[in-house]
This record gives sequence, C-alpha cells and structure tokens, in this order.
Amino acid sequence: MPCDTKIITSDFGYRDLLGNNNFHNGLDFGASMGSNVYAISSGTVVHAGFLNGYGISIIILHANGYRSLYGHLDEKQVVSLGDHVMQGDTIAFVGPKYLSNGKLNGFTTGPHLHLTIFDSHFHAINPRELNFMDIVLI
Ligand SMILES: [Zn+2]
Repeated sequence: MPCDTKIITSDFGYRDLLGNNNFHNGLDFGASMGSNVYAISSGTVVHAGFLNGYGISIIILHANGYRSLYGHLDEKQVVSLGDHVMQGDTIAFVGPKYLSNGKLNGFTTGPHLHLTIFDSHFHAINPRELNFMDIVLI
C-alpha cells in the first residue's frame, strides 16, 4: 500500500472535476496531511520535485519497467533523485493544498495522495487491476 489509509476518494477513469470531464489516470487515497507515503515496490527514484498537475511528486522506476508516481506531496523531501528504495520505505509525506510559494500543489482540492502506475510504455494503468492493494472505494 502507498499509505496507511485504504479509502479511495477518486477512482481511476473519467470523472467530473470542476465542471470538466477529465480522465483521472490514477487513484486518490484519502490520506491526511503529513501522513507517510510508502514505495509500493522497490526501485530507483527518477523524479523528485514539482510536476504540473501532480504538484510535488516522486516517480520510482521499478525493475519490470513500470513506474509509480506519488503526487501532491510535502515539500520536505525524504528521498532524492537516484536513491534506491525498498518496498514499504517511507518516501514522502502527504502535502498541503498550497505550497510555501503560494502555488497550488498540483491539480488538487485538498490534501490527499495521488498514485499513478505507468507501464513500460508509459501508459497509465488502473492500479486496482494489479490486485495487490486491499482498498475500499467510497
Ligand atoms: Zn488524483
């Protein structure tokens, strides 16, 4: 699991967001601000910093070529570019809606964890199809 909560507040797929129909390329977990974010599998940190839409985010490249992206994180960094992480390692904390520079922490309405999993062709897949997570949809 990427965090301690099993509650999914926004599912993978099309959704109505701010009046627009957008494709949500991952899962939103209802994790509270400051709570731990964990690596879902071991790998190498290939991005650590601001990324449009995702805000402060981390991307881990895994041995099978898949990448996991964790978005809307706290600015206080736990891991850095090039670090090797193990499954279950704390890699970050859930961040606030607004960053210290006043910018929105990505496309977010409030603190939560966004998780996207890209396959080796960089296509976002539904994390729920991997069946490794014990989650609750609301
Ligand atoms: Zn999201």
